[in-house]
Amino acid sequence: MFDNLERSLTVAGTIEEALAAKRQGAAILAGGTWLMRDPRRGVDLPQALVSLHAIAGLKAIYISDDTITIGAAVTHEALGQALLGLAGFEAVALAASSSANPAIRRVATLGGNLCTPGFAAADLLPALLAVDAIVELRATQAPLRMPLACFLANREQVLADAILTSVIISRDIIASAHVRLPLRRAGDYPVAIVSCALSSKGQIQIAVGSVEEVARRWTKLEEAFSREPGGRPASAQIAASLAETCNDFEGRNGIEADGWYRRQVLPTLVRRGLEALSHKEDAR
Ligand SMILES: Cc1cc2nc3c(=O)[nH]c(=O)nc-3n(C[C@H](O)[C@H](O)[C@H](O)COP(=O)(O)OP(=O)(O)OC[C@H]3O[C@@H](n4cnc5c(N)ncnc54)[C@H](O)[C@@H]3O)c2cc1C
Repeated sequence: MFDNLERSLTVAGTIEEALAAKRQGAAILAGGTWLMRDPRRGVDLPQALVSLHAIAGLKAIYISDDTITIGAAVTHEALGQALLGLAGFEAVALAASSSANPAIRRVATLGGNLCTPGFAAADLLPALLAVDAIVELRATQAPLRMPLACFLANREQVLADAILTSVIISRDIIASAHVRLPLRRAGDYPVAIVSCALSSKGQIQIAVGSVEEVARRWTKLEEAFSREPGGRPASAQIAASLAETCNDFEGRNGIEADGWYRRQVLPTLVRRGLEALSHKEDAR
């Protein structure tokens, strides 16, 4: 499975060192849970790697009154623990603590989850899209910020010369929920994911992962919700009915599930998501 090529690994102590190695052609190595399995996917391992694990600032989580800033090298395990019980962050906390398995979560990072090209089932993507997360990148001296949706639309281009350094989430979300459908035959990868969030303006924001190649907000459904009396569906069942009529997803076919199936389970996941959201609201 492995060739006999010599490979190099640089352990960067700063972002500048990591960027310099990247400019020389090194691939970014975070937890390695995806990258090091490249040969299984028939992809050659990169000849040069630059590891981010020694850059202290990338492993930090800052919680202020207004925002939460999460370093790109924070692991799923650390993220799930840090956000546990924080109102509004339930979806991100659950996405981090229910993805993969404990061994993977201990090393897999936020940055790896957001930056892996061609990985449709990333749990953190819909959870972060639902709460309007902003990503911060470094390519030169000045950091660059953009909405996560914008980053995803241009991911390969943006990452050609940049490193993701952090994710910033505003603390104006009242409650959120993350519902995933794993299948044993899918190796426990979720075949469909729905994340929802209730904003301080009373709007319900919904994002879907694993159904199409890249996670996205379900804007057609959000608009249908906002046309309901009171600006949101009166029950989770009504939300599920609206999800059926607004289902504009092109399900992706994969060995673990057909596209029609991923598409078809969405109304049920929406109902479960809205039920979880209202339980969290009631508990406040
Ligand atoms: C058995 C198994 C089960 C899994 N189940 C799930 C699951 O249920 N849900 C889920 O979401 N994921 C799952 N994963 C996928 C994966 O491991 C995670 O998405 C993980 O977050 C990847 O992070 P990493 O730190 O290991 O990334 P790496 O493997 O180190 O890197 C992945 C890619 O991202 C790039 N990269 C990493 N960090 C940065 C950065 N800061 N800036 C720019 N580029 C960067 C790398 O160059 C590489 O291209 C699973 C993986 C395995 C092996």
